This record gives sequence, C-alpha cells and structure tokens, in this order.
Amino acid sequence: MQKTKRQLLGIYRLLYTAFGSRHWWPADSAEETIIGAILAQNITWKNVEQAIAALKARRALSFKAIAAMDEEKLAPIIRPARFLNQKARALKVFADYFGGNYGYRTQKMKRRDVWELRDELLGLYRIGPETADCILLYALEKPVFVIDLYTKRILSRHGLFTMEDSYEEYQEFFMDTLAPDVPLYNEYHALLVHLGNKFCKPKPLCAECPLHSLRLVNN
Ligand code: SF4
Repeated sequence: MQKTKRQLLGIYRLLYTAFGSRHWWPADSAEETIIGAILAQNITWKNVEQAIAALKARRALSFKAIAAMDEEKLAPIIRPARFLNQKARALKVFADYFGGNYGYRTQKMKRRDVWELRDELLGLYRIGPETADCILLYALEKPVFVIDLYTKRILSRHGLFTMEDSYEEYQEFFMDTLAPDVPLYNEYHALLVHLGNKFCKPKPLCAECPLHSLRLVNN
C-alpha cells in the first residue's frame, strides 16, 4: 500500500477539475461557521441551513445572543438540527467559553497556538475531533485537515487506508503529506464531502465518478 503525495494531489486535481471550487464554508461570519459546525453533527446540510435561518430570524445568530438566552428557549429554535437539548447545551457551553476566554472575539482566538486551542475545544461539551477541526479550519483559518466519514470511505475504497484506521491516522497522513495550506485543506475537504454526497455513497456510483480511473480495492 503506497501512500504518497502524488496520489493525494492526483485525487485533488481530479476532483477540482470535475467539481470546481466548492466555496466552503457558506457563512457570513466566523461565529456563524462555528454555530453551523456545532449544529451540523449527524444531520444534513439542509437542516443546518434551516436552523441557522431560524436563529437569524430571532436575532440569535451570535454567541453573545445565545449566552443571554435560556437553554429551554434556544432548543425549540434549532429544532431542524435535531438532538435539540444536546445541541442547545453545546451552543450554550461554547458561548460561555467563548465569552469568558475570548470576549466573543474570534480574532483573539486565532492568536492561540493551534494545537493548544484544539485541545481546549476538545474539552468542551460535544466537541469531537471533526467539529473541532471544522472550527479551526473553516472559522479560524488554521491549517488543520478535517476528516469525516466520506473521507474514510473514499480513501479506504481506494486502498489508502481502512475504515478501522483512526481519525488521527487519516489526519496525520494528509497533514504529513500536504503542505500546511489553508485554502488547499479547505477545498480538499469540501471536494471530498461533495464526492461522498454525489457518488461515493454506501452503494457507490463508480461508473460516473470522477475517480473511476483510480484503482479500487474495496467496494
Ligand atoms: S464512487 Fe467508486 S470510484 Fe468514486 S470514489 Fe467511491 S469507490 Fe471511488
């Protein structure tokens, strides 16, 4: 099994040629991106958009507004995001942390060492590696590669990894192989998500897929 920079860049080029820029993450502010990342756990993007729109309609699309709101009042607003109580709690916990440590200023957060900040995020309620890395990359523009189920499925089907390999193993592979490049990491993850959505589904649509010319190992 050969895991090389050439292979990774080859996949990137095929995807970029097929799909173009994904312009990810679609949000008007870094705070909106963080809120979206917390809401996005285990739901579709369409549901995230509905929950974001509901917060916006109630002028609650900021952590300052969320901090001022009761959890019981917040939960029904984010109904489209499901897991209401857990996600309302996660937003409230993040709001307290963000206000208490950074005065609601993402610029202040950005000045922190990336790995120390990641450890801090991972200590918060319901922030796992994927959510923490989405916040770091897409909201705070730190060069951290995001791994998700689509990434695992695509790379394992092409024999670069297995589904059982850990989040950290996948992430180390991308980050040891590619230069720490925020626009590249941003686009690459977004392209993999799009590929997973459109083609590399549980039942893969290989014949029409932009990666069909690559060697398949598992299907
Ligand atoms: S759909 Fe098929 S060709 Fe495309 S990434 Fe998945 S396994 Fe590879």
